[in-house]
Amino acid sequence: MNAGDDVFLIGDARVAEPLEGLVVVTAGNQLVLPPGADKPLWSHQQLPWQINKLDTIHYLGHYNGERCYALEINADEFAGLELHTVGLGNYLGKISDGLFRLLGRALQITDWYRSHRYCGNCGAETTLLNGERARACSACGQSYYPRLSPCIMALVVRGDECLLARNTQWKGSFFSALAGFVEPGESVEEALRREVMEEVGLQLGELHYFASQPWPFPGQLMIGFFADYADGNIVVDDVEIAEAHWFHYRNLPEIPGSFSLAGHLIRTFVERCRTRNGD
Ligand SMILES: [Zn+2]
Repeated sequence: MNAGDDVFLIGDARVAEPLEGLVVVTAGNQLVLPPGADKPLWSHQQLPWQINKLDTIHYLGHYNGERCYALEINADEFAGLELHTVGLGNYLGKISDGLFRLLGRALQITDWYRSHRYCGNCGAETTLLNGERARACSACGQSYYPRLSPCIMALVVRGDECLLARNTQWKGSFFSALAGFVEPGESVEEALRREVMEEVGLQLGELHYFASQPWPFPGQLMIGFFADYADGNIVVDDVEIAEAHWFHYRNLPEIPGSFSLAGHLIRTFVERCRTRNGD
């Protein structure tokens, strides 16, 4: 698929009527496949369900010029239809970037809608706020928006070497850049310096913003930096990090695919080293 065929533009919360176009059907954290299809994208004419409550269908935006929506179905609506479901993780690196973002957005929006039916403050029912992507409590007024969790990602660089680590939770033997959640009360830059110090005991010099990526597992926003090494020796925390080493760009271990921000950071580092060294 070329880039011109893969444009996903986010739309605002108001339901764009009439309901025409593409629908991403979700069931919990799974995507529901149309009969015989390998991608979870339905045309609205294909839906075997009657849509009668407008607030259960969520306008997401435009994908390749077509309106698209998310619809969550429950077990009763599912019964007897012999439909297959698939997790978003199965599509990592296998579908276009725009489609991946569309599917991730659908799952995050339906998850938010389902999990905020009741107010966490007082327990009363919530209702959709008119014209906004928010549910508000009718009793106490508290409102609930879809939640994103910012995460930093750091590729620590020392000349022709970068620091890669293996996480204790990961299956397989690949190494990646360091990452961690931003804490309340912290800037992105502070989070990055703290995570690197906690996980591998290194002090950093300058930080250079690179790129960001939505990571809907379930709701992270990855924010990637190159980070110049300043001082210290590697001391791994043994909690999150099993091992961490400096790797020369010509001699890297197995790394994540280029679809992920980590893979993109590491490959960009290698390209820059090659250019600088005339490889
Ligand atoms: Zn309330």
